[in-house]
Amino acid sequence: MIYPWQADDWNRLQQLRGHWPHALLLHGQAGIGKLRFAQHLAQGLLCEDQRENGEPCGACVACNWFVQGNHPDYRIVVPEALAAEAGLGYGADDKADKADKADADEGKKTRAPSKEIKIEQIRGLLDFVGVGSHRGGARVVVLYPAEGLNIAAANALLKTLEEPPAGVVFLMVSARVDRLLPTIISRCRQWPMSMPSPEAATQWLAAQGVSEAPALLAEAGGAPLTALALASDENRTLRDWTLKQLAAGPECDAFACGEALQKLPVPLVLGWLQRWMYDLLAQRAAGAPRYFPQASAALTRCASQADASAFARFMRTVTRQRAVENHPLNARLVFEELFLGYRELFA
Ligand SMILES: [Zn+2]
Repeated sequence: MIYPWQADDWNRLQQLRGHWPHALLLHGQAGIGKLRFAQHLAQGLLCEDQRENGEPCGACVACNWFVQGNHPDYRIVVPEALAAEAGLGYGADDKADKADKADADEGKKTRAPSKEIKIEQIRGLLDFVGVGSHRGGARVVVLYPAEGLNIAAANALLKTLEEPPAGVVFLMVSARVDRLLPTIISRCRQWPMSMPSPEAATQWLAAQGVSEAPALLAEAGGAPLTALALASDENRTLRDWTLKQLAAGPECDAFACGEALQKLPVPLVLGWLQRWMYDLLAQRAAGAPRYFPQASAALTRCASQADASAFARFMRTVTRQRAVENHPLNARLVFEELFLGYRELFA
């Protein structure tokens, strides 16, 4: 099933049915359910007793195969890291699987699962699109996330996107079209996915048993799935503690931050800091924070105390740190330095 806020996208998309594009690029903010939408769309295209609005019937042999994860005319291609994490490997080509596995065995213990879609995976995929349909209907490929394609993989895919075999439909899903090769984008029909209205998102979160839905939704930039993940985030206590430190402005204890946060990934803490800084600026400029509305009073106080030029300097430091955040760094030192820098804003 698609999410309730996607009904409009679904219905508008059905207008393409007479001349369905061979490659569709579904893009939009992370955390709004684009992957599930793509998978439902794939099921609809493969269903052998499709409803009038393109909905899969849920009962035919094709639908059953799809749900069980073994429709012979369907492939989903995801980075290894995601396949391991979310069990999304379904339908991945055997050969690519084996290649990856051999790779993994060789580099055991030292090699982290790849976050990229690699050329071996695309080669496996091209074997799949090269043979005919098993059921005589469409063959569907979901690529997620499309920005995960590394250069070699993207180039290998390009030829097929230029001259696609009849009946093959590519559904590319991306939250970062700015990271896609322009040549890939130009061969796809682009489809921007709508953001849910705050009402629809809040209602859905409440139905999932999430309390404080509006605050979490604000922090998630309006993306309901991100808000849901935040609700069950094991680091939430530390995050709330960090926000209190930031709210303390000149009293922020940088060394305590280094100590308490040292086990957390640098990008996670940088994300908190960056959103807090964004809100300080928003509070100052527009009188309304975006991510932490519940901290509005503290933001107002901090914004009035901070020095404007120090502010700009500190933002540059944070941005610089983001650029190297995936490199192995001493997290404790990085955090100490950042929070010391933060405290100096109020000196
Ligand atoms: Zn069906």
